[in-house]
Amino acid sequence: MIIVLKPGTKQEEIDKVVELIKEKGLKPVVFDGVERKVIHVLGDVRDETPNGIKSIDCVENVVRILKPYKLASKEHHSQKTIVKVGDVSIGNSDFVVIAGPCSIESEEQVMEAAKILKEMGIKIMRASAFKPRTSPYSFQGMGIEGLKILKKVREETGMLVETEVMDVRDVKIAAEHVDILRVGARNMQNFDLLKEMGKIDKPVILKRGMCATVKEFIMAAEYILANGNKNVILCERGIRTFETAYRNTLDLSAVALLKKETHLPVIVDPSHAAGNRDIIPALSKASVAVGADGLLIEMHPNPEKAKSDGAQSLFPHQLAQLLGELRPICNAMGKNL
Ligand code: PEP
Ligand code: MN
Repeated sequence: MIIVLKPGTKQEEIDKVVELIKEKGLKPVVFDGVERKVIHVLGDVRDETPNGIKSIDCVENVVRILKPYKLASKEHHSQKTIVKVGDVSIGNSDFVVIAGPCSIESEEQVMEAAKILKEMGIKIMRASAFKPRTSPYSFQGMGIEGLKILKKVREETGMLVETEVMDVRDVKIAAEHVDILRVGARNMQNFDLLKEMGKIDKPVILKRGMCATVKEFIMAAEYILANGNKNVILCERGIRTFETAYRNTLDLSAVALLKKETHLPVIVDPSHAAGNRDIIPALSKASVAVGADGLLIEMHPNPEKAKSDGAQSLFPHQLAQLLGELRPICNAMGKNL
C-alpha cells in the first residue's frame, strides 16, 4: 500500500501517520518526492481498510498494491480447483451442464425433468425449493417440502441435485438434502449466508450479483473460502445495464477475467441473462468459447405451465439439440461434453 501525502505536509503530521502504521504492526517507509512525500507500507494490508488512513487530513490518496482477495486468487493458489460432486468433476477438462426447472413445483414435475435430463446424459439437475421473487405475490417455492422431493428424486433416479438457499437458517437442512448449494444473485453479498456456506462440506455455486463488480464477486467467494469451504464454483448470470432488450447483459468478459484471476471453476447461466429462450443457445456457445467450465440452464418438461421463468426455460428437445451443437465447440476448446 502506498500513502500519498498532500503537498506541504508538516513533519509532525508525517510522524503521526508513521506511528499509526506501526501500531497496526506494519512497516512504514517514507520517501521524499519532488512535490510531495509518500509512505510505502510494508506487510500484508489486505485486512486494512484504506479508508481509515484516507480520512487523515494530510493524506491525499491511498493506493493498494495487493489485491484485496487472497484465497480466491491464482497468485496464492496456482493450481486449478476441481470441484468433485459424485462422479462429476467441475473445473477440469470436462464441460459440465447443470440443467433443470427454475422451481420445484411437484414431485411429478421434478421426476419427469430428472428422467428427461438423465436420458440426455446430464448428471446434475437444478431445481429451486426457495424462490427469490421480485413480487411477494408470485410463487414463492415449496420450501422444505421441495427439498424432500428433490432428495427423493435424487435417490430414485441417481441424479445429483442442486438448489438455492436464501436463508441462513436453511443452509444445514438443504445441505442434508442436496449435492450442491447455490447462492443466488440477490444474495451474493448476504455475508452471513456466505459465512454459513463456508461451514458446510458441500460445494457451493455462487452467482454474481446483478449489480456487482467482478472484484466484489471475488470478495464474496473469498468469504466462503475464508470460512473453510474450498469448493466454490463461480457463476456469471448477467448484469444490469442500460439495455432492456433482454433480461440482463451476459458479461462474458467477466468469465475470461475470472478464469485469469482465480483458480475456481467458472460456469455461466445463460437463462437468467437472456430471460427468453431464443438467445440461450448462442449465449451458451459463446460461454464455451470464452473458457467457461460449464453451464447452468433452465429446462422445464412443459415450459408453458412453469410456475416461474417459463419464457426462458428450454423445451426438452431444445436442450438436447443444444448439447449436440455445443459438442464441437467444446472439442475445439479441449473440453469433453
Ligand atoms: C435461479 O437460478 O433460479 C435464480 C433465481 O437466478 P439468479 O439468482 O441468478 O437471479
Ligand atoms: Mn429462474
